[in-house]
Amino acid sequence: MADQHRDLDDLIDALRVRPDEAVDLRERPTDADFGMDKEAALARLADTRTAIDLLQQRLYAEGTRSVLLVVQAMDAAGKDGTIRNVLTGLNPAGIHVTSFKAPGGPEVQHDYLWRVHQAVPRRGEIGVFNRSHYEDVLVVRVKRFVPETVWRRRYEHIRHFEQLLTDEGTTVVKVFLHVSKDEQARRFQERLDDPEKRWKFRAGDLDDRALWDDFQAAYTEAIERTTTKDCPWYVVPADSNSRRNMAVGEILRRTLERLDPRIPDPEEGLDGVKVV
Ligand code: ADP
Repeated sequence: MADQHRDLDDLIDALRVRPDEAVDLRERPTDADFGMDKEAALARLADTRTAIDLLQQRLYAEGTRSVLLVVQAMDAAGKDGTIRNVLTGLNPAGIHVTSFKAPGGPEVQHDYLWRVHQAVPRRGEIGVFNRSHYEDVLVVRVKRFVPETVWRRRYEHIRHFEQLLTDEGTTVVKVFLHVSKDEQARRFQERLDDPEKRWKFRAGDLDDRALWDDFQAAYTEAIERTTTKDCPWYVVPADSNSRRNMAVGEILRRTLERLDPRIPDPEEGLDGVKVV
């Protein structure tokens, strides 16, 4: 059992992108079983959620630090499903999920990090971003919403921004859910064919699919330029939902374990106090 855990540690660690590592998404697996069948992955995630819940309680009690999990992916890779499955059953008071859509209203009157900074978790919380400031070097680049000179300098802004968060007590960890083009087609078709799922499909999804290579190139560069020792990217195989969810759970759990949040010392003089 201990060996199995060590193997899983290695497999999860292999998903992490080191600083200065060249990323070739075509070489990175979209399908991996981590040595588990579906049932084993579901059971493992259930254990992981229990562990995360305990660690989150301690993080809250400690009240000085927070964790930000950034989730990015191509359409239908399963951002929503991952977030739901990893966080189900945790104390909602300690978790804050923010979904970023195309900016509007006051957001467009400010710099692109303005809305993001407001959404970072409070001390003691786990924050999850469903899309994020990375859209400003992804869709914005691919759809040519701003000139290259503008999006290119953002990598540096983002590195500094995330370092600021790190320095001030927020641990940032980023996952790219890596789905294959074939699996995306299968999931889109399923959405179109199933009346219960059709609401998830937008005609624009096919326009983005036609830009697959451009998006992969944008992801590649974003990951390479913003993975750091403190704020790493993980490229998570996403063709299997159960293994994808398990892997993201492991990443979050390991991040919290490394922080090792401590319950504060109780006030002095409470020994032997009887409540009457
Ligand atoms: P999701 O696909 O995340 O489930 P939606 O279908 O509502 O949710 O899509 C949100 C859209 O918002 C995506 O197409 C995404 O590219 C877009 N978006 C998010 N952030 C930005 C941004 N900063 N600039 C432009 N578009 C953005």
